[in-house]
Amino acid sequence: MSVAVELPAWTAQAPLQLMHLPWAQAAGIELAVLRLDLLDPLISGNKWFKLLDHLRAAQAQGAAGVISLGGAHSNHLHALAAAGQRFNFATVGLLRGHAQLTPTVTDLQAMGMQLHWLGYAGYRERHAADFWTPWLQRYSGFYPMPEGGGGLPGALGCGQITRLLREQVADLGWDDYHGVWLACGTGTTLAGLLLAEAGAHALYGVTAVPMDYGVASQIEQILHAAGQPPTDYQLFDGSRGGFAKVDAELLAFMAECETHSGVPLEPLYTGKALLQLREQVQAGYFAQGTRLVFIHTGGLQGRRGLAL
Ligand SMILES: *Cc1c(COP(=O)(O)O)cnc(C)c1O
Repeated sequence: MSVAVELPAWTAQAPLQLMHLPWAQAAGIELAVLRLDLLDPLISGNKWFKLLDHLRAAQAQGAAGVISLGGAHSNHLHALAAAGQRFNFATVGLLRGHAQLTPTVTDLQAMGMQLHWLGYAGYRERHAADFWTPWLQRYSGFYPMPEGGGGLPGALGCGQITRLLREQVADLGWDDYHGVWLACGTGTTLAGLLLAEAGAHALYGVTAVPMDYGVASQIEQILHAAGQPPTDYQLFDGSRGGFAKVDAELLAFMAECETHSGVPLEPLYTGKALLQLREQVQAGYFAQGTRLVFIHTGGLQGRRGLAL
């Protein structure tokens, strides 16, 4: 068994829709949302795009399967396991912490991913030079994929998001858009959009982790690896006290948004990103008449494990 992927036609399942939110309308901002959460029942959101070029590389190498890392709610491992099941290649997940049964972990097992729990200390070793050696001895011929499907290959696949967006802009009755707003974890997706836009439109990223986690430097590294001169973008700290920290204002905002727009959000990335947008819009950051596209990066599967 080796890795062989076919790329499905997605556009129909990831529509670009107008998003009617009172606070945006009050400021004269036109907002649309690219629904990557609707891409596929199992392989949802930006994680599928981040897998693309890694899977192509695995295929080119004739890899026997793919091995990667993540936490017990990982959207990345979920997308990888689903891709393995869909395209019939073997997957191995190395998990942070100690064995626990979350809805995500149950899915990973059901989708045939082989799991290993590394503990916390073991997981912290993942950037060590010899980390992969014993795993690749055990899973000979497997393609090791970095956490979250990151790096330049991860970013390059995200260029498809820009294509999906551009294909559909005219359907909104818009001649163009001014900027793109999205949540960032590692910044890989934002870097991919920067490469694809090449300065054509403004990009705004909201970090799900505090600013000192090095998101900007990871973005620079990817641009550097791509040989593209640094382009301009804006980062906002949306972490609200830390990654995965959830507060009452955030939950109330998400509920209100879902009521007004019908678009489901999760609190780690998309909820925080949109709340940060409201704050910037209300602070007058954007001129009246600005047309913005919010990328719904998915992640709804992870929401099941958060007792909210
Ligand atoms: C992983 C993830 C992100 C962050 O993507 P990066 O490429 O790491 O910046 C954003 N939103 C959701 C829902 C995610 O699962």
